[in-house]
Amino acid sequence: MKAVCWCGKGNVRVEEVPDPKILNPRDAIIRVRATAICGSDLHLYGGAIPGMQRGDILGHEFMGDVVEVGPNVENLKVGQRVVVPFAIACGKCFFCSRQLWSLCDNSNPNASTLRKLYGQSGAGLFGYSHLYGGYAGGQAEYVRVPFADVGPVPLPESIGDEQAALLADVFPTGFMAAENCQIQPGDVVAVWGCGPVGLFAIKSASWLGAERVIAIDRFEERLELARRVGASETINYENENDLQERLKESTGGRGPDACIDAVGMEAHGTSLDAWYDRIKFATYLATDRPLVLRQAIHACRKGGTVSIPGVYGGFLDKMPFGAAFAKGLRLTMGQTHVHRYIRPLIDRIEREKFDPAVIVSHRGGLDDAPDLYQVFRDKTDDCTKVILRP
Ligand SMILES: [Zn+2]
Ligand SMILES: [Zn+2]
Repeated sequence: MKAVCWCGKGNVRVEEVPDPKILNPRDAIIRVRATAICGSDLHLYGGAIPGMQRGDILGHEFMGDVVEVGPNVENLKVGQRVVVPFAIACGKCFFCSRQLWSLCDNSNPNASTLRKLYGQSGAGLFGYSHLYGGYAGGQAEYVRVPFADVGPVPLPESIGDEQAALLADVFPTGFMAAENCQIQPGDVVAVWGCGPVGLFAIKSASWLGAERVIAIDRFEERLELARRVGASETINYENENDLQERLKESTGGRGPDACIDAVGMEAHGTSLDAWYDRIKFATYLATDRPLVLRQAIHACRKGGTVSIPGVYGGFLDKMPFGAAFAKGLRLTMGQTHVHRYIRPLIDRIEREKFDPAVIVSHRGGLDDAPDLYQVFRDKTDDCTKVILRP
């Protein structure tokens, strides 16, 4: 079959690889109908996440048709159209039984490496390095899905293929980021980063009762999308002398009640600390560029929440932890427990007549992946989200 393979930093290629096979009784094979390139795939593309090997198949956001099931998968039928959560969960461990799916104890065969780095390992992830299990991803014609009796969700006809691919990660991730803010009536929520996760966090924050949502980015086309999905105010930080001052002014001097960092480890900026981050990152003296997280902690009102759906990987430098402590902030973060959110979000899409695919800007076949990775990374051609149709 054809698959999008990681071939080194800044290098993805479409290669012929062996078809996946059922290895365990709880596996299924899915023929991929739609798969998305994610902002966090760009961390792999750019070489910011270790544990990738030449030839690894990328992609953790995909949906398709069930073509084969193992003998212990009783809830799926061949021919069913399903979306697959990006985190792999066994459904039976301590964490799965508490609905903490992305923290599953049984799905990462390489857990010992992450245990050395982090103390504990999270769930295995599709197409996301050998640190997370080395599973082949879904940017391919076919993919093996372990624990297929737990993850894949059958789709109603009302949900299109592209909409479904967005339910594998970015839509649930944006929703969980907003839910983690414990939004109260009257709240103002500020969202840094109007990529897919940020946009769905904006939509979800307004669904969950935020009175105002302030969207922050540097690309006008993304800010335009933010307005379309419900941002009441947008800020292009490159045109702003003092973002902190602007946020204060806009919230009666108090600061936003909740701040969402939907940017993560590779933030851009022009301030002194942004340059400091960039130099340390480029010279391997730092693992992350936590500029947005610093800004969010600084801006948030006392007693507010900083919610972090953006991905971080290592040790964060110059973190204003004293400010977070002094202001009594609540920090909330982590990989999304996708399994919890897919069905409720399908209901919401139907009820609210909301089309999540409004955020998709680029479409192509698998063969277009090398070009589209580049376009998405460089944010040229107003690129916000890429869907590949194998
Ligand atoms: Zn993703
Ligand atoms: Zn589990």
